[in-house]
Amino acid sequence: VTVLDQLIKDFSRLPGIGNKSAARLVYYLLKADPKLSEKLSENILKLKKCIRPCAVCGNYTENELCGICSDSSRDKSLLCIVEQSQDLAVIESVNEYNGVYHVLGGCISPLDGMGPEQLGIPALLKRLDKESLREIIIATNPTVEGDTTALYLLKVLKEKNIRITRLASGLPVGGDLEYAGKLTLVRSLKGRIEYNL
Ligand SMILES: [Zn+2]
Repeated sequence: VTVLDQLIKDFSRLPGIGNKSAARLVYYLLKADPKLSEKLSENILKLKKCIRPCAVCGNYTENELCGICSDSSRDKSLLCIVEQSQDLAVIESVNEYNGVYHVLGGCISPLDGMGPEQLGIPALLKRLDKESLREIIIATNPTVEGDTTALYLLKVLKEKNIRITRLASGLPVGGDLEYAGKLTLVRSLKGRIEYNL
């Protein structure tokens, strides 16, 4: 296999990239400034070496704490639970939320071997014992697994005696937060609904 073919194959393993797009990227790199390839390979290597989960919330960071956890202007009494760092980034992008987060790193999915332990839910419960919260927003994705995770969280968070809310409906069902339009996301954050416990 030539380097060319191998690289096309490698690119096509990335999400959302088929064989054609992979070939387009590789042929583009061949023609482009060599600096682009250098920067790309450097940063891809750095990605795995330098990025780690925040010690408090699990968000990706290059430091011990992520930018949000170390920001003193954030409202630490408001906690939003999301599945992935990407979901956090989507919520941040609409500039509507000033609380902190907890990133689960996935959702409950028995078929994939993902249970409460794998998602660090025991660690989340410990974290909650140390913090005085006034509200927890459950912002898992509007999918079957996301809803299962939300129900589980609800069950274990109930006894903490904290107001628990979820994003208002209007988010595309079956999709990820990242596919929701900004306006929809702002509306669902503003109009969040309290769970009746
Ligand atoms: Zn953090």
